[in-house]
Amino acid sequence: MLNFTVGPVQSDEAVRMIGAENIPYFRTPEFSSVMLENERLMNTFAHAPEGARTVFLTVSGTGAMEAAVINCFDQTDKVLVINGGSFGARFAKICRIHGIPFEEIRLEYGRTLTREQLYQYDQKGFTGLLVNIHETSTGVFYDPLMIGEFCRRNDIFFVMDAISSFLADELDMSAIGNDVMITGSQKALACPPGVSVLVLSHRALERIRGKQVESLYFDLKDALANGERGQTPFTPAVGTLLQIHARLRQIEEAGGAAVEQRKIAALAADFRSKISDLPLEICSDSLSNAVTPLRPKHVPAYSVFTALKDEYQIWICPNGGELQDRLFRVGHIGALTVQDNQTLLEALTDLQKRGLL
Ligand SMILES: *Cc1c(COP(=O)(O)O)cnc(C)c1O
Repeated sequence: MLNFTVGPVQSDEAVRMIGAENIPYFRTPEFSSVMLENERLMNTFAHAPEGARTVFLTVSGTGAMEAAVINCFDQTDKVLVINGGSFGARFAKICRIHGIPFEEIRLEYGRTLTREQLYQYDQKGFTGLLVNIHETSTGVFYDPLMIGEFCRRNDIFFVMDAISSFLADELDMSAIGNDVMITGSQKALACPPGVSVLVLSHRALERIRGKQVESLYFDLKDALANGERGQTPFTPAVGTLLQIHARLRQIEEAGGAAVEQRKIAALAADFRSKISDLPLEICSDSLSNAVTPLRPKHVPAYSVFTALKDEYQIWICPNGGELQDRLFRVGHIGALTVQDNQTLLEALTDLQKRGLL
């Protein structure tokens, strides 16, 4: 099997070997030091500002999105949601469920957020902004520095879901000025799913400490207090956290987040140049390095996914809903190589010969 989806993605051998081991007991100084190092490396790779903290939750990415919203906002806020696809719609849904006042900027699929669109909301009393900096469902990457500047100007608390973008795109919390950055274990961290990560600025920590959260599991005050000694309030996905530890150290030893990011960028560029003669249209006006969204010109998109899976043992990422037959996505995160891109190119070329692309 060769996996080009956007998560869970392929893990390298060192990470997979840890998955074969028994899970150790975790209320120990040894596990605490693993967690403290995980926090240090996440802060470093995110370019988190001075005094920032990182917490690890045993939830999928959506759990971390919900935790960020309910710990940082309440009924007194007015939140702007950038909604360019299913992940943006999810932030809106979370606000609706928790009674947090919000307005949405709805974007056409494949189109990035422009400065003009954003600045229609300038000086309108917004206190928060929620964005999936890479809207993974459509493969559109928004300009983080532009949004950061807008938030600074308006004194807006800025929550960035970078779940599929962290390590794939250039993201620097100190330069962007976002208060929260969310990521997850199953995207470019290339570990099994189940752990999500929140990097919290000093301003975020203040907000969280001043808020009553109507949830036991998702109260970040508890996670932060336990995290001071490298622990979590409840039993975490210990095995996945050990895998994350191995992966973060591996990235550090190879030269840090920038080196990893350039590797993913090079893989994406290689793939995009290889497919230029195929009847496929790249349909995003602002790409992330994590994903290439493609529209086949002659066949329904979903049929390409099925044929590659069933006949070539290659997985690309299908789309759901109204985009199912228009779009599929090819991921560039996880343990993939230029040779793997070549394998996918050959399969696509073969499909074209057979009249299936
Ligand atoms: C993958 C992803 C998530 C998390 O989805 P889960 O299925 O809950 O892990 C959230 N936001 C974005 C932008 C994603 O790419």
